[in-house]
Amino acid sequence: MTDNKHPVPAEPSHGFGLEYAPAPESTSIVSIDDDYGLFIGGEFVDPIEGGAFPTISPSTEEHLANVASASAADVDRAVSAARRAHTDVWGSMPGKERAKYLFRIARQLQERAREFAVLETLDGGKPIKESRDIDIPLAAAHFFYYAGWADKLEYAYPGRRHDSRGVVGQIIPWNFPMLMASWKLAPALAAGNTVVLKPAETTPLTALLLGELMQDVGLPPGVVNIVTGAGETGAALVDHRDVDKLAFTGSTAVGKQIQRTALARNVPVTLELGGKAAHIVFEDAAIDQAVEGVINGIYFNQGHVCCAGSRLLVQESIADSFVDRLKRRLATVRVGDPLDKNTDVGAINSSQQLAKISELVEVGVGEGAELFQPDCALPDRGFFYRPTILSNVEQTHRVAREEVFGPVLSVLTFRTPEEAVAKANNTPYGLSAGIWTEKGSKILWMADRLDAGVIWANTFNQFDPTSPFGGYKESGFGREGGLHGLAPYLSLSPMKGRS
Ligand code: NAP
Ligand code: MG
Repeated sequence: MTDNKHPVPAEPSHGFGLEYAPAPESTSIVSIDDDYGLFIGGEFVDPIEGGAFPTISPSTEEHLANVASASAADVDRAVSAARRAHTDVWGSMPGKERAKYLFRIARQLQERAREFAVLETLDGGKPIKESRDIDIPLAAAHFFYYAGWADKLEYAYPGRRHDSRGVVGQIIPWNFPMLMASWKLAPALAAGNTVVLKPAETTPLTALLLGELMQDVGLPPGVVNIVTGAGETGAALVDHRDVDKLAFTGSTAVGKQIQRTALARNVPVTLELGGKAAHIVFEDAAIDQAVEGVINGIYFNQGHVCCAGSRLLVQESIADSFVDRLKRRLATVRVGDPLDKNTDVGAINSSQQLAKISELVEVGVGEGAELFQPDCALPDRGFFYRPTILSNVEQTHRVAREEVFGPVLSVLTFRTPEEAVAKANNTPYGLSAGIWTEKGSKILWMADRLDAGVIWANTFNQFDPTSPFGGYKESGFGREGGLHGLAPYLSLSPMKGRS
């Protein structure tokens, strides 16, 4: 059997008979309303046509709240509010004043970090230790970083005029809701734009809490507007004629549609799309560290990571022993309640995503891959999937070509660096890659040849607001983070009188 209910038993591993006692994070710090309106013009308002959708906790299937669904008319209201705010206040505000708001947002995010982390975990299913230690601190760090640029744009782009673009439409996915919101909002606001943001349908709650935070810091009404809803709400935002720039993070299929619309209207667009990263381990790597890196590279955030190291390319000479070590390590990974502070792998974000992961793993096994799943207990309710290793995968297999976006590692082998490069690049995607070797020259040789926007060496999944992130090929274009992430939010032109 290949389904999740019939795992292959794990080898005995740690074997000390020690169990972790439950260590649940309290949810008392968050207060969730029964119903949420749309955040437009600095206020929470009812949608014009009155629709709503539920958001649930994927780890318990518990109903959390009803959230307003924005129609095209609501999107129009939000864009008008953003336009007014840009014309009347934000677009002409001196950078050093805008910076003060961004610093306030960053500090408030730090002060309320636990509340945001617990809500992120409740609504999306990711382990609390990740939302607490990674998502929310990094979200605050993005606001701090771009706050620093708001009054220094002439130094960021010397000799060039730097005008804000106007009203920006931003659409984000469910895998890092707050972090993606911050990647998008912080540079846009620092550059003097106003924003209409569309969060993902399954994870709207932290974006709405961010709306409250925007009220608390006194951000002028209309500078940030949040329109919740499904894909149609996003499509209405993309189609709106008064949006000056679009930024999208999500799937390649939707990204292509958005690019077509944006091109037809000549609206600048940045696309951060899917990935199928090669994680390459040479025989001369520090093996224990590489095992940790590969585990972190694919099982972090249940593998719902665009840059996840989902294709392990391991040198043939060490392949068997390396995969053996991975299996032993996987048997010690703790899967379950994401609110438990010891949990490593939490809930799959939705039943649809769980079905997609199960189906692709079935296909992989049908195509000849060998399945390994640890024999860990899964909660009775909620959406969970055992972390999975598929070995003997070949390049033609669907699990080697398609983004699973779940806790599933496909293992392939190579003999020479040339073969590793050829296999790594044999994908329509080009977002990230990882290299493990003790030879610096080999790292540089490989990095020169890998078609990936981000390449990690002897580490994986490191993020920093100062460092640009983005892809090639079907992983999209444009960068987020650093000055590269600020430029798309500005219209840069030569200063008059200079050539
Ligand atoms: P998705 O289906 O493309 O959705 C992304 C966002 O677009 C959601 O807010 C979604 O709303 C909205 N949307 C759906 N259809 C739309 C349309 N026709 N027009 C405008 N907006 C529309 O992607 P997903 O499954 O949520 O997210 C996973 C994908 O994101 C993966 O492929 C992953 O690799 C990618 N990702 C990339 C990066 C990166 O930086 N490169 C980072 C994170 C994730 P609903 O939620 O209501 O459907
Ligand atoms: Mg939810």
